[in-house]
Amino acid sequence: MNKGKICVSVCAETADEVLRQINRAEDLADLIEIRFDCLKEGEIQKVWKSSASKKPEISTFRPKEQGGIKTISKQERLNFWNSGNQTLWSDFEMDLFATGVTLLPKLLICSHHDFEGTPKNLNDVYERLKKTNADVVKIAVQAHDATDTIHIWKLLEKAKSENQQIIPIAMGESGKWTRILSLAHGAFMTYASLDAGRETAPGQVSAQDLIEVYRAKELNEQTEIYGIIGGNTSYSMSPYMHNAAFKFHKLNAVFVPLQVKNLDGFIRRMVKPETREIELNFKGFAVTIPHKQSVIKHLDCLDETAEKIGAVNTVKIEDGKLYGYNTDAQGFIEPLKTAYGDLKNAKVAVLGAGGAARACVYALKKEGAEATIFARDLKKTEALANEFEVGLEKLSTQHSALSAFEVVVNATPLGTKGSFENETPATAEQIKNIHLAYDLVYNPFETRFLREAKSAHVPTIGGLAMLIAQAMKQQKIWTGLDAPMKQMSRAALEKI
Ligand code: NAP
Repeated sequence: MNKGKICVSVCAETADEVLRQINRAEDLADLIEIRFDCLKEGEIQKVWKSSASKKPEISTFRPKEQGGIKTISKQERLNFWNSGNQTLWSDFEMDLFATGVTLLPKLLICSHHDFEGTPKNLNDVYERLKKTNADVVKIAVQAHDATDTIHIWKLLEKAKSENQQIIPIAMGESGKWTRILSLAHGAFMTYASLDAGRETAPGQVSAQDLIEVYRAKELNEQTEIYGIIGGNTSYSMSPYMHNAAFKFHKLNAVFVPLQVKNLDGFIRRMVKPETREIELNFKGFAVTIPHKQSVIKHLDCLDETAEKIGAVNTVKIEDGKLYGYNTDAQGFIEPLKTAYGDLKNAKVAVLGAGGAARACVYALKKEGAEATIFARDLKKTEALANEFEVGLEKLSTQHSALSAFEVVVNATPLGTKGSFENETPATAEQIKNIHLAYDLVYNPFETRFLREAKSAHVPTIGGLAMLIAQAMKQQKIWTGLDAPMKQMSRAALEKI
């Protein structure tokens, strides 16, 4: 266990709701932050009067420009702090110190928030916060890319060397990893939401996930760090599956989201031993859209499957060297073979021509299947079809060509939760004569394409099977251990 604390932040318009949230937060939190700025007029006093939490409380009354809910004048803020009502901890914004007001909290956090980015004078901000003699200084900056976290992480290292208690936060999805790993590296505290969907700042992780999925308080500086590198990591199931596997094997390892826009910068400034600016014990990455191909130029070695597919979804780091693999092909073919049997000469239609389709076609060819790619842009796809020596047809929902196939695979995003959810690449009528429908989309669990297949009495495989199979292979590559399928499947299913 490290010495860091988890603070659950509660925010509601009414005192009754705040008190309900405090009550629930007590089981998860070391400290509870009450965001008084969230309360409607007249409700603040009710909270002061009624709150009797078993856990130490932090009062916060933040104006909008510092991330608060509403506009609050300086006078209102001073009135609040001078009302004589005190919780054990208080979190003041730095500007209040300039007013000369007498603030008498028992324990004081002095904070600075920047919701735009990282201030150029971050070190000056830190020095000014230190000068307030607060017990703890807190700096929260907005990260738009993983590399935006470097300055705040360096500040944590500096504060540690000066024995200054600090809460360093990089907000946003790109900064999420700092919220998970900072306790292991000496931060005083990390903030968590009471539930997913109740975040009080961008990128906050729920307290339950911090404790049970990421084991944030059990990590230390020796913890091996793995992560998913992607353009948008907020929907990824990988942290849930991989952390379940690490937990099962009782490994001192954690898997975090790493939302990376600038891959070159990330590899240079955060990964490569010769050029990196901070020391994180990275041991491997899962790689997803849009970096599966562009990551290749950064690797020291590429395995044969990844080379043939031309895409990498797994990186292992050993002695500072980066090794690339692709587990999508095997992850795709295993559930298919289990459901269908021998694929030799089986006619398989692959709908879509992106990275996943490449892995599917490679695996199908290896099994001796006759694959045909269906793409919306034939010109763009010609080279791929030629490279793998497979057929190519136009993808269309009006098309009857699919009835000539035994297996149809959806490798487009159609059906994915969100704007594509009600779409399908093929209807029941089009696939009524096939033997098996396989959708790579895993969220939602049952897609429109799978429903179309079921209504035509066609057996189906959902995307979760591939998701788990490819993740299990990643675990084997990273740890050398057999991955726990039950735990990984349960973790993914619960999340979906
Ligand atoms: P990708 O590289 O972006 O390729 C997507 C393909 O779908 C492209 O060929 C694209 O056509 C086509 N497409 C996109 N929107 C379309 C639309 N509205 N109508 C018809 N075709 C459309 O993505 P990917 O990596 O191949 O992934 C494809 C899907 O598989 C995603 O939903 C992903 O979540 C899923 N997947 C699942 C697993 C798993 O483990 N279950 C693993 C990998 C991928 P254009 O080239 O013309 O744009």
